Amino acid sequence: MLPTRALRLTVPMSQPSRHPPTRREAEALVARAVDDGRLERAPAETLAAGLGEATVRDAILAGAAESKRRGKGDLVSVSRNVFIPLTNLCRDRCSYCTFAKQPDDPAAKTYTLAEVEETVAGALRAGCTEALFCLGDKPEVAYKSHREWLAARGLSTTTEYLIQACDVGFDAGILPHTNAGILSADEMEKLRKNNASLGLMLESTSPRLRDKGEAHYYCPDKDPAVRLRMHEEAGELAIPFTSGMLLGIGENDTERVDTLLAIRDLDDRHGHIQEVIVQPFHPKGDTPMRNVEAMSDALIAGWVAMARLVLGPRMNVQAPPNLTPDLLDWLLRAGVNDWGGVSPLTVDFINPEAPWPALRDLKRRTEAAGQKLVERLPVYPEHLLGKPGFFEPRVREMAMKQVGEDGWVRRDGSHGVGEAA
Ligand code: SF4
Repeated sequence: MLPTRALRLTVPMSQPSRHPPTRREAEALVARAVDDGRLERAPAETLAAGLGEATVRDAILAGAAESKRRGKGDLVSVSRNVFIPLTNLCRDRCSYCTFAKQPDDPAAKTYTLAEVEETVAGALRAGCTEALFCLGDKPEVAYKSHREWLAARGLSTTTEYLIQACDVGFDAGILPHTNAGILSADEMEKLRKNNASLGLMLESTSPRLRDKGEAHYYCPDKDPAVRLRMHEEAGELAIPFTSGMLLGIGENDTERVDTLLAIRDLDDRHGHIQEVIVQPFHPKGDTPMRNVEAMSDALIAGWVAMARLVLGPRMNVQAPPNLTPDLLDWLLRAGVNDWGGVSPLTVDFINPEAPWPALRDLKRRTEAAGQKLVERLPVYPEHLLGKPGFFEPRVREMAMKQVGEDGWVRRDGSHGVGEAA
């Protein structure tokens, strides 16, 4: 049964008390981080303690904007994608999730391969270059009916079916990017043959969130050690990899800093982290966390800026524009350089209450902030041009046909950013 009792996640536990810095102290810490190209743990925790104060936050945002300028110039990227929720069955029960359904729910759905083909055909007509395959985690472990559904197709795991679906997309001419929850090294090795990149939000390194009453209590796949291991294995396999931090699910400042540092350490070791999503939790009705207060806009912008300072000027820092539509200018001032995937066709199935902005509006608002919107594939130029060994040759070949010398998507017809949206 789904847990339906409302959770009361208010003041996170284990928050060490730090005094917020003065504005002058914050400016000094920020200036050093910008010059060093990274913010270390102790100064990060000190700055985090001051994020609630406007003067300190302004200093952090200004430093993050300067760091972004040094690493990314005035460019902000977006991917024109189609979202394919291959199955919304999932063995986990995250307390904030409305995506996952039980098999007897009328809204439970697993796409047929014919539906994948039809969706991809529509996406290609709309000029999309990315098929985002996003699905629940190992539903075959929890549901007999799903095991039977797979067995009827000669399959024993959802990942085997996913590989077939990605083949359908790739063969039609779109580049898959998959986020299927926890995958083994063997499964990732198979998926790299038809995926441009893979992803898994780390969400948080806090094991506390798996305690009773916390957001990940019913979620074996949200064990941070398991998620870190998958990040590590993706690095060992040299797969361009998307990670991210979820804000406001009960973690504290120390744990947020630790999460960002863990992602940075992984990239230091393997050079495979292509982007880091900083995503705020959205409370949804019918979930145990429906009454948990969302993080304020000011703190969301502050943590985006902290991500930029910790991760450094070259990392791609992404914030989904549909989750904070009134905050785009602020996010741009906080060092964001990517809006993620924005679909002209499909909703954000994870946050269906939050519509995507039209690409032309995103372009207008990005330019109004003095930035330039460019279109990317589900991989960035850094990996595509600079690390060819990170790709299956046929995947890179398909990707290279779609980009110019700079690695951004080349549009010869009517599908420039902001068109046909
Ligand atoms: S957030 Fe992901 S892992 Fe958690 S219940 Fe939803 S689909 Fe499953």
